[in-house]
Amino acid sequence: AKSLGRGQVQFFSESMRQKLKGAALLETDIQRAIQHNEFELYYQPIFRIADGSVAAFEALVRWHHPDKGFVTPDSFIPVAEDSGLIMQLDLHLLEQAAKQLQCWQKTIKTPFRITVNVSSRHFANLDFVSFIDNLYQSYQLKPGSLCIEITESGLIANLSLATKIIEGLAPHQVKLCLDDFGTGYSALGYLHQLPIHVLKIDKSFIDNLKDGKNNPLVEAILTLAVSLELDVVAEGIEQQSQLDVLKQTNCDYGQGFLVAKPMPAAEAILYLNEHK
Ligand code: C2E
Ligand code: CA
Ligand code: CA
Ligand code: CA
Repeated sequence: AKSLGRGQVQFFSESMRQKLKGAALLETDIQRAIQHNEFELYYQPIFRIADGSVAAFEALVRWHHPDKGFVTPDSFIPVAEDSGLIMQLDLHLLEQAAKQLQCWQKTIKTPFRITVNVSSRHFANLDFVSFIDNLYQSYQLKPGSLCIEITESGLIANLSLATKIIEGLAPHQVKLCLDDFGTGYSALGYLHQLPIHVLKIDKSFIDNLKDGKNNPLVEAILTLAVSLELDVVAEGIEQQSQLDVLKQTNCDYGQGFLVAKPMPAAEAILYLNEHK
């Protein structure tokens, strides 16, 4: 038993070592990839449930890796998040989104937004405000055209600083969306203190809208949103029956594979032109 115990300890530390090594390699690789422009933003429509028209696009990163091929974010965002490299990656992608917006705004007259996911790490430092200021100036973005998605846990860690940062973005009408809403801690008490604008109901709640049955939690979130004057987006809509329920509950915005998957910019613009 003793040797087995020792063996287990050794096995554990070896696997830990491999894991750390893997993470370190991935970090270096991400840095290299930023330099080589291997990250591409895909765009998924956020539509008005009433008529299916596009209100915004969520930007979702994809990695064209020279050896690994097409890589989705779940395999590298968590590592970037842990190492802090996410700061650099997010800014790189925000700039890409701003470039895309500038390009689209030249040809598309109907208003729409691009919403970009960023780590809550940015909400611990006022530098983020000047970065966004610069983006708005450099790419001559229209007010309200860029939106930020963030998960709530990082915001409540430092409420007053987060509030300052969100207020610093207000001159550009940058809207703040709480992503994955309903998961995590959801200390509802802070919601009215934060100057946010949009709640995105997590897919797990939408999954429960099976067979045309409503989920009381979704209804509760919608009621809460009305009283706080927040917009609501339901994410991860995969079935018509889910969309039908959302229509009945007066959820304004939706997103999901049922209607459209994330797509490259060239396809997204075609989609937008067909769903204005
Ligand atoms: P998220 O922000 O919650 O994004 C929604 C995820 O659900 C996306 O996965 C999207 O492709 C997927 N999705 C959309 N509709 C459906 C549906 O109907 N069914 C299903 N099963 N999935 C759907 P993706 O693109 O793999 O991104 C995963 C996560 O990676 C994102 O979750 C976000 O947390 C993170 N992420 C993606 N892009 C970025 C980025 O540019 N920056 C940062 N910081 N994080 C990002
Ligand atoms: Ca998101
Ligand atoms: Ca989400
Ligand atoms: Ca998520």
